[in-house]
Amino acid sequence: MDVATADEDDPFEEQRENAEDPMRRLFVEYGGENRRAFAVGLLSSVVARVLDLMPPVLLALAVDSIFYDERPFSIPLVPEAWLPATRTGQLYLSAGLIAFAFFGGAAFHWTRNWGWNSFAQHIQHAIRTDTYDKMQRLNMDFFADKQTGEMMSILSNDVNRLERFLNDGMNSAFRLGVMVVGIAAILLYWNWQLAIVTLGVVPLIAYFTYRFIKTIQPKYAEVRSSVGQVNSRLENNLGGVQVIKTSNTEDFESERVEDVSQGYFDANWDAIGTRIKFFPALRVMAGIGFVLTFVLGGAWVLTYQATGSAPLFFSGELTPGQFVGFILFTQRFIWPMAQFGQIINMYQRAYASSARLFGLMDEPSRIAEDPDADELVVSDGRVVYDDVTFGYDEDEPIVEDVSFEVDGGETLALVGPTGAGKSTVLKLLLRMYDVDEGRIAIDDQDLRDVTIPSLRERVGYVSQDTFLFYGTVAENITYGTFDATREEIVEAAKMAEAHDFISNLPEGYDTEVGERGVKLSGGQRQRISIARAILKDPEILVLDEATSDVDTETEMLIQRSLDELTEDRTTFAIAHRLSTIKDADTIVVLEGGRIVERGSHEDLLDEDGLYAHLWGVQAGEIDELPDEFVERAARRQARIEATDD
Ligand code: ADP
Repeated sequence: MDVATADEDDPFEEQRENAEDPMRRLFVEYGGENRRAFAVGLLSSVVARVLDLMPPVLLALAVDSIFYDERPFSIPLVPEAWLPATRTGQLYLSAGLIAFAFFGGAAFHWTRNWGWNSFAQHIQHAIRTDTYDKMQRLNMDFFADKQTGEMMSILSNDVNRLERFLNDGMNSAFRLGVMVVGIAAILLYWNWQLAIVTLGVVPLIAYFTYRFIKTIQPKYAEVRSSVGQVNSRLENNLGGVQVIKTSNTEDFESERVEDVSQGYFDANWDAIGTRIKFFPALRVMAGIGFVLTFVLGGAWVLTYQATGSAPLFFSGELTPGQFVGFILFTQRFIWPMAQFGQIINMYQRAYASSARLFGLMDEPSRIAEDPDADELVVSDGRVVYDDVTFGYDEDEPIVEDVSFEVDGGETLALVGPTGAGKSTVLKLLLRMYDVDEGRIAIDDQDLRDVTIPSLRERVGYVSQDTFLFYGTVAENITYGTFDATREEIVEAAKMAEAHDFISNLPEGYDTEVGERGVKLSGGQRQRISIARAILKDPEILVLDEATSDVDTETEMLIQRSLDELTEDRTTFAIAHRLSTIKDADTIVVLEGGRIVERGSHEDLLDEDGLYAHLWGVQAGEIDELPDEFVERAARRQARIEATDD
């Protein structure tokens, strides 16, 4: 049986197939550091269980020697001379030992739970943080391929399943293991013939439980998947409630929610139907074992006492104490057998989960950092793109043969229709992706030869998607420059024209921005991220539509501060409004991933090509781009989308 596929889809099937047993790896890589907790858990499980088994044994002995004269009062390993001679004395001693077993048992139950919990908690903490650490360092194309929900599920559900197995699963496995072996040994020792009757139902129960797990598992998978559908539907609808209202689609959405909710109901009802039959059936089997033991054992005691021989096909003696012991153990033994199925189930889920976690940890990185990489040293800030070609999909280049040079302190603007590859060109400078061909260098250092942190430290990036983190305005401005003082923050905000609106917020710089900054407008978020870049004070600045979300008036204000900011700094700018970049030292015009024009604003106007036409449209001089440009852009986009599929 392939246990790893017993669970839902495995997004890392490929890596998993080549990997060693993930559970083994889990214990090797994470168990070692926690071996003390493991040892405490394991030893305590054994001792606690042995102590648990003592009272019924002592009771059986007491019945035979104190209440009936079946055998002399004796305790293994203790010399007879030390034992009390009177029956009352023997009773007190037995009671004392039983009390000792209970209290000692309690102490070991405690250390046992401490051990397993500590083992599970440390491992889940370590594996979650390791996986997260690895995940956020993976390339951007990894995140483009996988859904956030899928990643969240690995970091939360899979880690939680491992934790459950390491804690409850291991705990129960050892508890049950010791109990089954211990009780079977005692019963067989007392009376192997009756023991066979009693233990006879065990394989039956084990098989039945196993069948049950096999039947219910796919049903539970169905339940989980339908819960997922309900959640995504609800999340989507609550997030898009404004669109629902304005589109008047409340009834339509209510129906869609009802549909997925009905799906969950049906899946759950199916699983419930199977589950509620299981325990009664188990009770019947346990009952058969119990009744058989009781009838046959009882008849044996009576017959033996009356005739001195065993009934039916049995032979030898069964004492009343042993009979009591059998009944007590049968009670304790059969019922928890049902847990074996659960343990197997937990193990299978943990196996699949750790396969997914390790699959993620083994995910190869397309951007591999050279182990001998040096820190980037920016002296001048000169950036060179040399015949750069790159595609998200290696077969379909998005930028081709792009070459340009920007001297330290100069500004280069990238212009071109949407989809021309402008953002892509700049993402390559931050090494979000590596070039497929050609090279990019800063002050003659190839980006692939420098460490990624040192590169991103010196290149500041303000993009069109301004993502703010949950936290205060000040925390968002200092994000990445954590040691800034309040004065520096305010100074940066003033330069980004953000100080005024921040001061008007209820708690000024300490106002919470809400999840993803929802409490702020797009323009306000953008100004905060500009302040963030100003505070970081990088040698090279990348402005990817940095002012796209602000109104013209604010844009002019920010532009003034950006001019100041970019004055002595190598700057790359993409701007929707060409007026904001017309003073750039060089303007590079991209079309279909290739540079089609370059020069200053005036040069390009004289050239009367794409730039001049774009400018004409924005200045209101011509109504629209000539068809040839529009058609070329549309053809290219269609081609890219076709390769994406
Ligand atoms: P621009 O900034 O000029 O609008 P982009 O560089 O954003 O252009 O995009 C260029 C092309 O690359 C577009 O066709 C876009 O669909 C595609 N593209 C952008 N990002 C990705 C990505 N992460 N994965 C695959 N294709 C992408």
